[in-house]
Amino acid sequence: MSAIPSELPLRNDLVGEEPYGAPQLDVPVCLNVNENPYAPSAAVADTIARRVREVATTLNRYPDREHIRLRQAFSDYLARESGVRLPVEQLWGANGSNEIMLQLFQAFGGPGRTALGCDPTYSMYPEYARDTFTAWKVVHRHDDFTLDLDATIAAIRDVRPSMVVVTSPNNPTGTPLPMGQLETLLGVCAQADVEGAPAGAHPVLVVDEAYIEFRDPGTPSALSVLEGHPNLAVSRTMSKAFAFAGARVGYLAASRGIIDAVRIVRMPYHLSAVTQAAALAAFDHTDELLAQVGHLRDTRQATAEWLRTRTWHGKPLEVAESQSNFLLFGGRFEDRQRIFDELLRRGILIRVVGPDGWLRVCMGTDEEMARFREALDEVLAQG
Ligand code: PMP
Repeated sequence: MSAIPSELPLRNDLVGEEPYGAPQLDVPVCLNVNENPYAPSAAVADTIARRVREVATTLNRYPDREHIRLRQAFSDYLARESGVRLPVEQLWGANGSNEIMLQLFQAFGGPGRTALGCDPTYSMYPEYARDTFTAWKVVHRHDDFTLDLDATIAAIRDVRPSMVVVTSPNNPTGTPLPMGQLETLLGVCAQADVEGAPAGAHPVLVVDEAYIEFRDPGTPSALSVLEGHPNLAVSRTMSKAFAFAGARVGYLAASRGIIDAVRIVRMPYHLSAVTQAAALAAFDHTDELLAQVGHLRDTRQATAEWLRTRTWHGKPLEVAESQSNFLLFGGRFEDRQRIFDELLRRGILIRVVGPDGWLRVCMGTDEEMARFREALDEVLAQG
């Protein structure tokens, strides 16, 4: 609980609010915040140390505000990962994709504006909205967590949002957004107008692709339709597939206009020279850092199959279809907190998130997953 005395003139809408974040507990097996379980190798750590050492002697100066070399590295990486080559003017970095999203809300949200999302989804979106005085509205997904396209289209026409936020794969469900649905939404947004904006403005469609590298091979990313869609913004991160969550590097691929809008609201020098150097070092080792993505994808597949063979009160566990590095499972735990607590007692930390009755587990190393399976079997056997 935070302790903010009433003598402090805290913003009225923040009274009673708590800081966001999963508990950071010291337990043997952490499968709770969708991290990549594979730590950078000694070779990666050495390159980071060398690159940071190089910039250390320049830290009396402000860093490159436009982080041009890093944007070039994003461009090279995306060309390789998604087959889409973008100029640096269409790329932008920040401290995690959290900051990318906040900058988008700062640029396109604000008083009198609404952002639309499709829940259950990432629980930070309402916080970005709150922090930028943007109204936040949601359309509910279908029972299988796929997008309710008709309801979403109706809401875009009705609410006239300035931003539509879709997450692919979605967190906490893992659900991908099929390309056909994305194209439909782009078409609808291109025709829709925006409450609180001058005539002729259309909503920005934000696709949060934090987990996109874990999708099945051959599935296109929203990057492939960037061209010709000036109102499409694709948010990415190095936190997950790149195993770089601690460095705080996210990035945005979008039209030049969207990037220029974000440049208006960013803090001057928001990306430190140390962060830029560390990120460039990581890109020197792209192959190695991404080497485990395929294995984590296989782990997800195997874990989903295993979970479906488990039963709870005589019925198989439900597992949401996931294209990510985590799985939402259970479906009908009447007391999910107890299952969570029992796993925690056995040294396994997962996450109570998503609709009631479900729990989320993210993929760890083979050994961690073996311990998870063993512990879950014990807990399920207790009934
Ligand atoms: N988007 C989604 C859907 C996420 O789940 C997360 C992290 N949990 C983020 C964005 C933010 O990640 P980061 O700031 O580390 O890039």
